[in-house]
Amino acid sequence: MTGVPPEGGSAAAGGLADRLARVRDGVADAAEAAGRPADEITTIVVTKFHPASLVAELASLGVTDVGENRHQEAQAKAAELERLGWSALRWHFVGQLQSKKARQARRYASAIHSIDRASLVDALRSDETSVDAFVQINLTDDPDRGGVAPDAAEALVERVLATPGLRLRGLMAVAPIGVPARPEFARVRELSERVRRLAPDARDLSMGMSHDYRDAILEGATHLRIGTAITGNRPA
Ligand SMILES: *Cc1c(COP(=O)(O)O)cnc(C)c1O
Repeated sequence: MTGVPPEGGSAAAGGLADRLARVRDGVADAAEAAGRPADEITTIVVTKFHPASLVAELASLGVTDVGENRHQEAQAKAAELERLGWSALRWHFVGQLQSKKARQARRYASAIHSIDRASLVDALRSDETSVDAFVQINLTDDPDRGGVAPDAAEALVERVLATPGLRLRGLMAVAPIGVPARPEFARVRELSERVRRLAPDARDLSMGMSHDYRDAILEGATHLRIGTAITGNRPA
C-alpha cells in the first residue's frame, strides 16, 4: 500500500523521509547514551495543522503513531486516514480536551495524553472499551498551559485508577520555555516514581518534543511527541 503523494511531490516526500530518518537516528543515539533499548521508545509524530495527505505519507514511511492537539481536526483526519486504508494508525490526543468532547475523542484516540482534571476523567468514564491515559503535569505556574499541578497529581491518578474505561499508562509533560529541559524531565521522572506506588504498571513517560527529545530520553521518556523536526514547519 502506498500513501497519497504530498503536495510538492517527490522533493517534499524526500524531505519528510530524510527528516524522519534523522529523528530515528537521534532517538537511537540518545537511547544508546541512556543505556536503554530504543524499541521501548515510541515516537509519536505530531501532525497538527498538516493535511491528511502528510499523515498518509508518514504512514507509508512506516510511522504507526500520530498525535493531534485539536479534537475537530483529529476527528476529521482520523476518518480520512481510515478511508485511505490506514486503519491501523494509532491516534494520540495531546492537546487540551473539553469534557463535552471527551466521548467523541475516545472513538478515534488510542491514547489521551492530556488528562488534567477530575471533570475530564469523569467524562471519559466508559463501560465499553478502554483508552490509554496519561496524566499531564503542569511544570509551570501558568494554569493555561494545561496539566495538573505536581502536588495534585497523585489525587488525580487515584481518580483515573477508579474510573472504568481508562487504562493509566503514566505521566505526560511539556518542558517550560526558557529553562533547561533536562531537570524538568527529571522532576517528572521523580513524580512518576511516587505514582508507581499507587499504580505499579503506570511507568510510561510522555515527554520530549522536537528540541528536547534527547534530554527526555535521558530521563526515561517512553513516548516522544515530535512535530516540526519531522513534519517541517507547520502551515499557517
Ligand atoms: C505541537 C505539540 C508537540 C510537538 O511540538 P514540536 O515542537 O513541533 O515537536 C508536542 N506536544 C504537544 C502537546 C504539542 O502540542
